[in-house]
Amino acid sequence: MREQTLDGRVALVTGAGAGIGQGIARVLASRGASVVVTDIDGDRARETAAQLGGSGLAHDVTDWEATARVVDAVLAEHGRIDVLVNNAGVSKSIPFHEIDEAEWDRVHDVNVKGVFITTRAVVPHMMQRRAGSIVSISSMVGKEAIPLFVHYSASKFAVIGLTQGLAKEMAPYGVRVNAVCPGVVRTPLWDPLLDQLAENKGITRDEAWGEFVADIPLRRPQEVEDIGEAVAFLASDLAKNMTGQGINVTGGQQLH
Ligand code: NAD
Repeated sequence: MREQTLDGRVALVTGAGAGIGQGIARVLASRGASVVVTDIDGDRARETAAQLGGSGLAHDVTDWEATARVVDAVLAEHGRIDVLVNNAGVSKSIPFHEIDEAEWDRVHDVNVKGVFITTRAVVPHMMQRRAGSIVSISSMVGKEAIPLFVHYSASKFAVIGLTQGLAKEMAPYGVRVNAVCPGVVRTPLWDPLLDQLAENKGITRDEAWGEFVADIPLRRPQEVEDIGEAVAFLASDLAKNMTGQGINVTGGQQLH
């Protein structure tokens, strides 16, 4: 009988000093993994890691050289990386005709290039060991885009594309590559989004949040642990025949 244990596994989670990444790190640690928490905010990474008995490192996923140093440091300390979770991401609600090049690049640098850079740094090690599980956090808007988030949606579609192509390329090496697509999770990411949406639509912040939650068939937004559970499953041997998937965790809001 296979188990969803991560005992003895080493997991690196990016952007895990807050929000969903913190929840993912918590669930992976609860399943027995040694979790390395990284975040552009090094203090938050170390605080989260301290709560989990793991290690915390400052890490900007858009920085190629810094990422290589982080991966080297993790390998030096733990000897292996079994699970990589590409969670770091940024968003903004903005009408398409107001997106300038800098804003497009900001979102794509973290959400797409950051996934590329971190995965690129870890993959040779996993290929060599002929084992590993990579899980990237896309979004339900990475499957079906919505207005006012066009650049963000495009970046999350790119994560699905990267996941699918890499899954096929890595399959012969025994490295699995999947994505999780959350729906709406009330994290710090939402604070500026709700303010922008409220302003754009001339409604209050709570009304803006209510619009998102009203469409969820299971009638509640996701908790960070809901996303962590899906990641833990994909990281575990229970999912050893799954690769190239984008698993929705949306309370039924996204069906394909
Ligand atoms: P959040 O803003 O609460 O947390 C994101 C974390 O990433 C922060 O700790 C931040 O410091 C870190 N970060 C930002 N830029 C970074 C960089 N360049 N390098 C390393 N770390 C960086 O956001 P969240 O809601 O927890 O989102 C986590 C992931 O889930 C993102 O990829 C987001 O797009 C995705 N997502 C979120 C929702 C949601 O409803 N919250 C829905 C779908 C997908």
